[in-house]
Amino acid sequence: MLLRHMGASDRKEISMITVNHLTKCYGNCIAVDDLSFEIQDGHIYGVLGSSGAGKSTIMNIIAGCLPATKGWVYIDGCDIFNNPMAVRRLIGYFLEHLPLLCMNDTPTEYLQSVGEAKGMKGADLQKQIDSVIELTGIGSVRKRMISTLSKGYKQRVGVAQALLGNPKLIVLDEPTVGLNLIQTIEFHNLIRKLGEMYTILFSSHTFSEVQAVCEQVMLLSKGRLVAFDTPDNLGKLLKESNGIFFRVKAEKAAADALMKEKEFSTVWESTDQGDGTTSVCVKACEDDIRELYCRLFLSFSRNGMSIFEMTTRTIQAGQF
Ligand code: ADP
Ligand code: MG
Repeated sequence: MLLRHMGASDRKEISMITVNHLTKCYGNCIAVDDLSFEIQDGHIYGVLGSSGAGKSTIMNIIAGCLPATKGWVYIDGCDIFNNPMAVRRLIGYFLEHLPLLCMNDTPTEYLQSVGEAKGMKGADLQKQIDSVIELTGIGSVRKRMISTLSKGYKQRVGVAQALLGNPKLIVLDEPTVGLNLIQTIEFHNLIRKLGEMYTILFSSHTFSEVQAVCEQVMLLSKGRLVAFDTPDNLGKLLKESNGIFFRVKAEKAAADALMKEKEFSTVWESTDQGDGTTSVCVKACEDDIRELYCRLFLSFSRNGMSIFEMTTRTIQAGQF
């Protein structure tokens, strides 16, 4: 699946982020291991994983701040390694720590300099500054020195600078670390509000947090994607279901071939969706449905077949 060869007429099918076989090594450490996924426009996606799972590495690569060892990343159909400047305009990246240099500025002054660095000026910049200040709820502190602001407000200033320049995708790497409970709840409300206007990629190491704000969650373990599902389905993965349903970017014949080759289960059914994707429903024969879930996900994504949706299901006896 080489999206770089797609023509303009294919653009409607291009997702907001496409990651293909992405690998990042730091010396001998494989921080991101052959990762493939796609996310669509207009939703809030969570990247969940414990410390060292590879969250920051992936987000830094997607934001164009770190080169990859192998693989491709496309943002809104644009190859980020070949068009880094064009892609940077599409992304608003939340900086975990505001630059030390801005500590003596007010939020308004800092946003002014960020906006100018992004190529904006004049009345348009002033309008955008007012708009992001309003959206992030920092109007009451806009004339105070940033160094005197609470951590909650500093994080909001960090979000405000990310929103300047009308990006399509907002990347927030663990933005609630260090916030107290009230600040965290307020920040979640802000992310939900932003989710109505932008595609959001938000990382966290706690399930309850991604459950609170995200529509879909990518679960990472040791640089690998082991699940991609709604928070609710991830939570009940092991409880009552005996089957897995997923939709994959592949022709039916290719999906069937992989199902047979890997001998996942003898009980499954696939359907051509007519849009280049195939849906597959698999009955788990083993007790550990999570194991099957991870194996299915890894096998399809490693074979270049991105999974769009994947959920657990209850399959009745004799259904296939
Ligand atoms: P997370 O954000 O999920 O905590 P990271 O992406 O920061 O994970 O790290 C993933 C792995 O890569 C970890 O094992 C970490 O030690 C390693 N790593 C991250 N950055 C570097 C670096 N600059 N040099 C060497 N190893 C790194
Ligand atoms: Mg991190």
